[in-house]
Amino acid sequence: MGNKAIYPGSFDPITNGHVDIIRRGLKIFDRILVAVLENPKKDPLLTTKERVAMIRKIFKDQKKVEVKSFHGLLVEFARENGTNAVIRGLRAISDFEYEFQMALMNRKLSSEMETLYMMPSLEFSFLSSNLVKEVFMLGGSVRDLVPGPVETKLREKFGTNKRVQNYEKAGKNAGYL
Ligand code: ADP
Repeated sequence: MGNKAIYPGSFDPITNGHVDIIRRGLKIFDRILVAVLENPKKDPLLTTKERVAMIRKIFKDQKKVEVKSFHGLLVEFARENGTNAVIRGLRAISDFEYEFQMALMNRKLSSEMETLYMMPSLEFSFLSSNLVKEVFMLGGSVRDLVPGPVETKLREKFGTNKRVQNYEKAGKNAGYL
């Protein structure tokens, strides 16, 4: 059996930063369960099914990575899946406050729960799913930011004449892109 950790998130879409954290997690844990949060916001770019399918495709040769979707309390989903270890990524100080609150609240909900933070490689420290979405929808290249199957899926779903076609989909952009 070995030890297992859960890596929860929206993964809308999964980026090279997430993949980096999963690979680092596998150095410590025998198995990682990637837990895809259902309906993270009112209007996710990709459906839960699409997000799960994409992560499975990326790790199809890695038997130690399992992917499931979940809703409700993470501590309950973790318990049902036989683990009390959660992995999260820390990119910068800006992630810290939110993560700190979540970790302590999860510990309050289940005293067994422990959260481990991992730093990605420097090159992914600026990367977020939101920025990837905005860059793609505004017509920029996301080649070095996401695994191949994600870029392919985005093209399939939203077309190649992205800037014109999907401008509205970009919604509120950062203002600098
Ligand atoms: P959420 O919507 O809960 O913030 P995400 O799917 O964006 O979830 O991210 C899941 C986890 O992965 C979080 O711990 C987040 O900090 C981490 N993460 C996101 N992007 C990166 C990245 N580029 N490098 C390392 N960790 C990341």
